[in-house]
Amino acid sequence: MSAWGETVRLRAGNRCEVCGRGPGPDHDLEAAHILSRGAHPALREDVRNAFLAGRSCHRQMDSNRKGLLWPWVESKWPGLLDLLRREEREGILVR
Ligand SMILES: [Zn+2]
Repeated sequence: MSAWGETVRLRAGNRCEVCGRGPGPDHDLEAAHILSRGAHPALREDVRNAFLAGRSCHRQMDSNRKGLLWPWVESKWPGLLDLLRREEREGILVR
């Protein structure tokens, strides 16, 4: 896992932030992007733009980002999505 991923893993205490479980069958822990790395390259290595999830939980969130992932993020880290989008829009993150 990258340094970015390791930071995310440590922050989450090596538990899935979606369901609270540790690693298990179909539930290897992965660092996942909130705003996709493809569409948001400036946020690719920003640990705020990340959560730790088991593979099955990651897949479930990615299957419905707008309807499932983003509301979950908003309840867990209120205001984070708006903040990241604003910083990206204003070019603060471009380096
Ligand atoms: Zn999980």
